[in-house]
Amino acid sequence: MLQDQEVLAAEMERTFIAIKPDGVQRGLISEIISRFERKGFKLVGIKIMVPSKGFAQKHYHALKERPFFNGLSNFLSSGPVIAMVWEGEGVIRYGRKLIGATDPQNSEPGTIRGDLAVVVGRNIIHGSDGPETAKDEISLWFKPEELVSYTNNAEKWIYGQN
Ligand code: UDP
Repeated sequence: MLQDQEVLAAEMERTFIAIKPDGVQRGLISEIISRFERKGFKLVGIKIMVPSKGFAQKHYHALKERPFFNGLSNFLSSGPVIAMVWEGEGVIRYGRKLIGATDPQNSEPGTIRGDLAVVVGRNIIHGSDGPETAKDEISLWFKPEELVSYTNNAEKWIYGQN
């Protein structure tokens, strides 16, 4: 029998977030993680890896007809990436808000790309753009056993279950 908190956790939405090689090389890992963490989202999976070019192409398969696809795949596979899964109410949509518009020239100040990036080809972070993409990207990057379900003590203060 699941406890209330476990039911709550089981129903929570998850999204895939990656810090791309430029974000890692620029020392922005903790800055980016802290923005998601301070918001109240919960980290349930994290690893560092250098994706192969084939893996990067799989990740960006929806963009394979775009002129920048080859350069983008080369870039994603050019160095370490921090792959993460974040959980929380509305995390897919709100994660995209925290990240900001694709082109940092159009990203609002206060967003990750708005504050920390300048050009579209080096926009430091990826976030799933919808529930189906989130599901596919999480299963591409993580095995189920690499994701952790747990109750964070702050949840009752974040969600008001106390
Ligand atoms: N991108 C690029 N040139 C463009 C558009 C996109 O290099 O003209 C890169 C950019 O790194 C972007 C990624 O391709 O983050 C994926 O594009 P998408 O449209 O899916 O944007 P995102 O979901 O990352 O905001």
